[in-house]
Amino acid sequence: MVKKAHEAHPVEPTNATVCKTCNTHLLKIVSELKIPFEELSILQQPRRVINVNFPVRLDSGKVKIFEGYRVQYSHARGPSKGGIRFHPKVDIEEIKMLAFLMSLKCAIIDIPYGGAKGGLVIDPKLYSKDELERISRAFIQEISNFIGPDLDIPAPDVNTTSQTMAWMLDEYEAIRGRKSPGTITGKPTELGGSQGRLYSTSLGGAIVLREYIKKKRLNRVRLKIAIQGFGNVGFHLARILREWKYKIVAVSDSKGAIYNPNGLDIQKVNEHKERRGDFRGFKGGKYITNEQLLELPVDVLIPAALEDTIHKGNADKIKAKLVLEMANSPITPEADEILQKRRISVIPDILANSGGVLVSYFEWVQNTQNYYWNEEEVNARLEKSMVKAFDDVYEASVKEGVSMRSAAFGIAIKRIIDAEKLRGHINERK
Ligand code: NAD
Repeated sequence: MVKKAHEAHPVEPTNATVCKTCNTHLLKIVSELKIPFEELSILQQPRRVINVNFPVRLDSGKVKIFEGYRVQYSHARGPSKGGIRFHPKVDIEEIKMLAFLMSLKCAIIDIPYGGAKGGLVIDPKLYSKDELERISRAFIQEISNFIGPDLDIPAPDVNTTSQTMAWMLDEYEAIRGRKSPGTITGKPTELGGSQGRLYSTSLGGAIVLREYIKKKRLNRVRLKIAIQGFGNVGFHLARILREWKYKIVAVSDSKGAIYNPNGLDIQKVNEHKERRGDFRGFKGGKYITNEQLLELPVDVLIPAALEDTIHKGNADKIKAKLVLEMANSPITPEADEILQKRRISVIPDILANSGGVLVSYFEWVQNTQNYYWNEEEVNARLEKSMVKAFDDVYEASVKEGVSMRSAAFGIAIKRIIDAEKLRGHINERK
């Protein structure tokens, strides 16, 4: 099927600028869902790539040059949207891949955005708060002509916070000479941030898991759940699921994991971690390694920390029947194949962790209307959109007989392609 389609169309997904993981998924999906490669060509590279190198004076009085990127992958369905990360290992290929995934994520939850991502090559630990403020403002000066509420809307990502967004917004508004809160999301609520954003990714993931369990008619109270990662996403997910009476038997951080087959008291685990810095010495469970957590005899495994956590070296040892991908790309394509062969279901990242960008969209809507919703209103809207997105993906996966990942990629790609077609950017099929 793939070979035949290659022969029919000169553009091959293997030439794409998207990363190997996405490209492997794309290739498979193109084949499974019979999307012509020619239609895909518009999605094989970003629409706009901005590379900046700019000087900032440090506290020492010396000037240093910083390198940053902003990739606007797609504008087909609306202004592009995506975070800005600060990390020493930021590289353009990774930013392109993340911008591509953002495009799919926005399409899956059906919000009127394209996808983008930004990155600054910097180890933020090496700089003072004042220096980080000057660097954040200088980055915005460089890209200010290319962002805005109707153009491209940044947000926080790895190592950037609501404070970073506050500095960036203030700089943008100073340049433009007017208020423009819809230019940046993930702001403090005092500057127009949305209620509920702190835990929206986790709440979205919890809703998706709950809907899956309903569809499969599983007994919720009997399920054993292990969560890798106890940061923003992992902690709030554990907290919400526990509040909903699910049994969390294991959680982990970068140092190790804690396991109790009868269920953990998440509040006590959190208090212990806040007090001690890690899970060692926690009385209500056994201290185990991160690797052991992934291989526990559980029903649901939730990677909520890092990419490439489940790889070909450990995919055979996973005992869970369902993996809910809360981190971005936590399963390598090779491991994905192995899990599929072993009939382990996967709820893909572009669906499972899309609650965050959804509430970012709500923030932008509130900013542009200048009318603000309370936490209950935000969460009710989140619930409605996440249930709809889950239903779309689940039903397509059943109808097409493909994995939920393929179904999610297929829906997202089709929605973007449909928008591009209406704009006249793709040749009509004869
Ligand atoms: P975070 O930095 O707050 O937390 C990361 C957690 O992972 C920490 O508890 C850390 O100790 C733990 N960790 C690191 N290495 C580990 C290892 N080897 N084993 C076990 N745990 C380890 O980050 P976050 O905001 O919670 O994001 C987690 C993941 O979710 C990332 O992949 C991120 O891209 C993705 N994500 C986050 C959001 C969001 O709204 N925060 C939205 C979409 C996707």
